[in-house]
Order: sequence, then C-alpha cells, then structure tokens
Amino acid sequence: MTPEFAQRMAGVRPSAIGELLALGAEPSIISFGGGYPDAALFPTDRLEAVFRDAIRTPGGAALQYAPSDGLPRLRMQIAALMTADGTPCTGDDVLILQGAQQGLDLAARMLVDPGDVIVTEDPTFLGALIAFEASQPAYAVVPMDAEGMQTDRLAEVLARTPRARMIYTVPDFQNPTGVTLSLARRHALIALANRHDLIVLEDTPYRHIRFSGAPLPTLKSLDTEGRVIHLGSLSKVLVPALRIGWAVAAPALLARMGLLKVAADTQTSTLNMTAASLFLDRHDLMSHVAGLRAAYARKRDAMLVAIRRHFPQDIHVTEPEGGLFTWATFAPGFDATAFMRDVALPQARVAYVPGASFFPQSPRPNHARFNFSARSEADIHTGIAALGRALHAHRFP
Ligand code: PMP
Repeated sequence: MTPEFAQRMAGVRPSAIGELLALGAEPSIISFGGGYPDAALFPTDRLEAVFRDAIRTPGGAALQYAPSDGLPRLRMQIAALMTADGTPCTGDDVLILQGAQQGLDLAARMLVDPGDVIVTEDPTFLGALIAFEASQPAYAVVPMDAEGMQTDRLAEVLARTPRARMIYTVPDFQNPTGVTLSLARRHALIALANRHDLIVLEDTPYRHIRFSGAPLPTLKSLDTEGRVIHLGSLSKVLVPALRIGWAVAAPALLARMGLLKVAADTQTSTLNMTAASLFLDRHDLMSHVAGLRAAYARKRDAMLVAIRRHFPQDIHVTEPEGGLFTWATFAPGFDATAFMRDVALPQARVAYVPGASFFPQSPRPNHARFNFSARSEADIHTGIAALGRALHAHRFP
C-alpha cells in the first residue's frame, strides 16, 4: 500500500546530507564529519564497574521501571552540578531526559503549533531542526558573528515576527560554528525574551568543554521570569551511549515536558540512570572533564595549525574556545556539498559536513563544519593536508 501520512510528516524526511555522511563512514576515509567525542578517552573501566554494580542493585531496582522524571538521586546530582556551575537549582527542578535531543523534541511539541515561529541562530544545530520538524514550525533566523547571535538583529526579527514562540540557542561553543555568545548578548537576549514574552531554549552539551577563557553565566542563571528551558547532557562529558540528558525549567514547563516524556518513552533507562548516578557518586566528573578539555584543546590547535598551513589563505575558520567544531567559510560561489561529493570523498578521502543543511531557511553553500575531537592529531594533519592539496588543485587546476 501507499501509506497516507499525517500532515505533521510533511517535513519529516531523510536529508540528502545523510547519504554523503554515510560515505564518509568508510574506514579508508578520514572523517571530520560526525560530532563524536574521542572514544579513546571514554572511562571504560569505570563504566564497566558501575554497570556491573548497578545491575546487582538489591531487589533488582536498576532493572525495574523507575519514576518517569528520573531517579531522584540522579536528579539531585545533576542539580548539584548545575549549582556548582552557577545555576542554582534542586532535584525537583531537573527532568532527566533521553539525551538533550529529547528535550528539543519535547519543548517544540509542548510550545509550537503548526506555523508558530522558532527563532534560531543562522546557522544552527541540524539535529534541532530535525527534532522541531514534527511540530511544523516556521523559522526566523538571526545572523551570527564572533560573539554569537547578533542580538540587535534579534530585536529586529522579533519586532516583525508576532508568531514567535521560542528562541533556540546553543550559547556555548555552538554546533556548528564553535562560537560562544558573549556576556553582553546573553543579557540582551534575556531582556528581549522578557519584552516579547518568549521561551528561551538553551542547549548546552559543550558547555564544560572549555579550553580557555572564563565560563560565562548560563542563560538560565540570568532568567528572572522562569522563561528559560535549560538543556544539559552527559553525552560529551561522559559517553553518548548513556543517553542521559536533562532539562532545568520552571515547574509549570517541566511538568508538561514530563507528561510528554511519559507519552514518548515512559522513562529513561533505569540501568543507565543508575550507572550514571553511581559514576557521579564515585568519581569527580569535572576532573574527568579536565582531561577531555586538555586533549580536545590540543586537537583544536592541531586542526587550526594544519588549516592555516594547508588551506588556501582566503578560507576563514572560527577559533573556538571550546567544544568540538570549527566552521569554515569558503569564497562566495564555492559549493562545499559538490566539492565533498566530487573531490573531497573520492580524491582526498576526507569527509566534513557541508554547511548548507545547518541553515533553516536559505542554505549558504560556501561553508563546512569540521569536527576535531574524534580523530587523532596524526589523522588531523594527514586529512587536512590532503584536503588542502585538493582545494588548491581545485582553484588552480
Ligand atoms: N544539542 C546539540 C547542540 C548537540 O550538538 C547535540 C549532540 N550532537 C545534542 C543537542 C544532542 O545531544 P544528546 O546526545 O544529549 O542527545
């Protein structure tokens, strides 16, 4: 049969980028595509121990159903991490999620009717656009510069967008650009959300992966009106496979997100929550993160040095103070998707994510996202050098 899908499926379809990235997964290709942490840095022995102990929890508790909002102890531990990071809260303010990704889906489903407008950075996280799509939003986009979303432009956008419901932002080491929202703009963004009575969805999976400079306050910590939904995640600071994320938000928002979560998946895996909680009991997460920061800082440096040495001089890349990505801007007219398909993959044997899919409205083809966390420094040098040769040859064939 030819199934007749609901209207909300209109925007839910595979992206062209998926096929290209699948090609990049071939072992002979050096891929800077995925947003993967470095598997060599996973605390495997410690995780093995906590999973082994979790499964033996008296009464089989870790193998049983658990409260849908999350294990109370884990909620408290997350609240303690948030509080230590300058965003005071208690376990009651925390909803455990199946990764931060679930928070994107639940927030949109809770707040956005078809045609309502989600305001995003331009470019923004592709996975958020995928999560939002089933809520059938329209988008209004705000350009970025080295200080993140340009809040003077945000003011203009909001003035002409009466159906705006929510501002979505990745303020720390944004995916895909690596750029961080400045302090002044954090204040400006909150002031604008207050003036226009909007929800702010603050997505912070990279927040603790900072290489230099002082941490900036979360938007949630600047929120005096209960309008920020803060999303956090253990994916980048521990392991993605745990699928542990969380939301911190005002009670009315959190309760409704919790109802949608029950509908979606009943609860996050009890075994994974128990293991995560034991890990946080036994180990100082932030000292593990200090090791990640040092390793990823070296990889960032390796990538920026290699790009400067090997790429044509007019290609601009961001210099992120943290996170996993840098963002390249090629000359106008350069098509990073076509170049990946025709040259980078078949000839240079290198993959990246072409930038076009990160733009909600008008894709700009002359960008690409490069991940520096997943590969070794040697691979970074080899891959960037090969890509540089291909870029030079492409210009001066
Ligand atoms: N938000 C952003 C900006 C991300 O980059 C990612 C992961 N790539 C997520 C959310 C989802 O993370 P999680 O694994 O916690 O679902």
